[in-house]
Amino acid sequence: MKSRVWTMIDFDASGMQSDFARVPFSSDTSAYGWIPVPMLCFKGGEGPTALLTAGTHGDEYEGQVALRKLARELSKTELRGRVIILPALNQPAVRAGRRNSPLDGGNLNRVFPGNPEGGPTAMIAHYVATELFPRADLVIDLHSGGSSLDYLPVALARPGHTETKSEAIRRLLQSFGAPYSVMTDGAGGGAGGTLYAAAEQHGIPALTTELGSGSTLSETGLAIAESGLRRVLRDYGIAPNIEAPEPSGTRLVRFIGPSGSIYSPRNGFFDPRAKPGEKVAVGQIAGYIHPLDDALVQPLELTFTVAGIVTFRRFPTLTSTGDALFGLMTEAET
Ligand SMILES: [Zn+2]
Repeated sequence: MKSRVWTMIDFDASGMQSDFARVPFSSDTSAYGWIPVPMLCFKGGEGPTALLTAGTHGDEYEGQVALRKLARELSKTELRGRVIILPALNQPAVRAGRRNSPLDGGNLNRVFPGNPEGGPTAMIAHYVATELFPRADLVIDLHSGGSSLDYLPVALARPGHTETKSEAIRRLLQSFGAPYSVMTDGAGGGAGGTLYAAAEQHGIPALTTELGSGSTLSETGLAIAESGLRRVLRDYGIAPNIEAPEPSGTRLVRFIGPSGSIYSPRNGFFDPRAKPGEKVAVGQIAGYIHPLDDALVQPLELTFTVAGIVTFRRFPTLTSTGDALFGLMTEAET
């Protein structure tokens, strides 16, 4: 079924255009209205198309700010190709400062390939998958840890199904040049319904990132996003003259997965003893869970059962059974 989302942008026209992906939404205050998801299109001569998105989760800010800064730069940069930018993809979630949409509770990074007849979140996903993916030669969807995770700055990608696709994805990761590049195994691992996994299934080289945490703006994460975007646009010939710092080299790693993660076995206060980026050993103390009610009860001691590098740590102290407290990664064999 065709998308009901529409735009005034003509993707084949040269120059700079700014409009919206207009998502029909009927509410008490606006019966025939639409949600304005900001969209920009920059087109120069012949060349590839980069699709750049952020705000897929509304409370993750490095990508949202980096794309706004990039858009202003591109308005005065000569292009050979096209750049389509949506800096606030789940606009209702961005406006609310929340991970998910307040309109339908939708998590935009779990509903791909979307549904043209669903709520606003599913309609946005469907529009991206059916109208934007077919125009794209590479896709970057910028995320951060959000309000609940303290994340090491990483870029992530799924390996392609063929050696040629894998090579294209490795090229994209090298060019983006985050300090760590994580090749996810593609099997489960939370990739189901994500934008970058859907793009990869379309055969488009795609990466996503985790660049900061705690619903704040990380200076380091912002710098990684900005320089990575500039390098990709330069290296792919889309913005051949854009200034971009040389990468300091990315380390290829892989997530250990649920077996290397620690989940809270009970409710309480989380008292962590390892930091993102730290190398941890089997048996090393990961932290404590202090019971909420009885101050005389000993806190529960948690230890790492697998060795690795801490990728993320839970951010809020108040913790419930089942919350992810730590995730680990390991150097990938090349
Ligand atoms: Zn996210």
